[in-house]
Amino acid sequence: EAQLIAKRDRLLGPAYRLMYQKPLHFVRGEGVWLYDTAGRAYLDVYNNVVSLGHCHPAVVAAMTKQIAMLCTNTRYLHETILELAERLLATVSDELSHMMLTCSGSEANDLAYRIAKTWTGGTGIIITETAYHGITDAVSQFSPTLGTSVNLGVHVRTVPAPSVYHAGPNIGELFTRNVEAAIGDLKRHGIQPAALIVDSLFTSDGILPDEPGFLQGAVAAIRAAGGIFIADEVQPGFGRTGSHMWGFQRHDVVPDIVTLGKPMGNGQPIAGLLTRHDVVQEFGRNTRYFNTFAGNTVSCAAAVAVLDVIERDGVMENARKVGGYLREQVGALAVRHECLGDVRGAGLFVGAEIVADRETRAPDRARTARVVNAMRENGVLISACGANHNILKIRPPLIFTETNVDLFVDVLDKALTSA
Ligand code: PMP
Repeated sequence: EAQLIAKRDRLLGPAYRLMYQKPLHFVRGEGVWLYDTAGRAYLDVYNNVVSLGHCHPAVVAAMTKQIAMLCTNTRYLHETILELAERLLATVSDELSHMMLTCSGSEANDLAYRIAKTWTGGTGIIITETAYHGITDAVSQFSPTLGTSVNLGVHVRTVPAPSVYHAGPNIGELFTRNVEAAIGDLKRHGIQPAALIVDSLFTSDGILPDEPGFLQGAVAAIRAAGGIFIADEVQPGFGRTGSHMWGFQRHDVVPDIVTLGKPMGNGQPIAGLLTRHDVVQEFGRNTRYFNTFAGNTVSCAAAVAVLDVIERDGVMENARKVGGYLREQVGALAVRHECLGDVRGAGLFVGAEIVADRETRAPDRARTARVVNAMRENGVLISACGANHNILKIRPPLIFTETNVDLFVDVLDKALTSA
């Protein structure tokens, strides 16, 4: 392994990172399991790309069939991309009437920002303090978690993450006031607001689902200022929250643009956005949009198969049911483990905040890292998020079962004891 790590560093250079103190080397995946070179199985509680499970047979079959038949791009007519558009648009309000495709979530947010700038005439963008929206030049300027070497743009304003645990109830009022203050600050600097963009489950901010509906005031505020609301559904989308297909629907708002990614092709790179006709009209008139790989026939076949499985197998209902059980079981550990300050989530996306002291709610970053690494040693994969890296990010494939939860909770219990 040491040789492989050295070779990787030599060939891929310094910008890549591996997970865990002891990196992992997998050769095969199936369902909720990953297998390493020694044949050891690891329970994957951290993968929302293959959110239907590793190597889902229906997606593999759809892609295999399509790639053996035809792989072309959006410059030719093809039915599958239109079926994908119809089915995705059927999951959102009628106002959202167009789908555009990209290859990654970063590209989707980059395109959303370009469209927002054209429609509003502004450049200002408001995000949360620990947001992540992607890696393009434009999007990295509003992705503070990328690293200290990345400067936020002068047109970017951040607002504190809406945390009920730290800021108390009525989080919507506070969040709205903060967004209004950010709008005011942009305007004072002569910058017209283009958009408020949030991950509707605030996953890199620490997984902040409550109270449902709290986004409404902030959405009204950005619109009143001439900007638009972009819901980044790359993490919460495709049924993960259990109650809704999209995270923003928990807040009963209709975004001007919805960006999609990660689980969309269950591993095949496909991402995109949904938007209104008026929002994209001028952009479309003046710009030719062609993205070589985006919307190719194979990616579209994968994405249609993903929607089929979500509908056919009751995936959202499973996320709701097993997610509820997961939250309950992790929550029950708090009785015995003082360091578990808060357990929260929606569907199969759960955050568990590790604190040094329940009174002060001070983060315990070092302990969180020890828990994550101890779990990896015991064959369970999770990670941490939040500004202080002290929130366990528990995000299994949506086919997770109650038996999987029991194993997970057992290993977490031991890790919390030993770490
Ligand atoms: N938005 C969010 C909320 C994300 O979590 C990510 C990826 N972690 C992205 C955008 C970027 O997606 P991609 O890595 O596919 O470019």
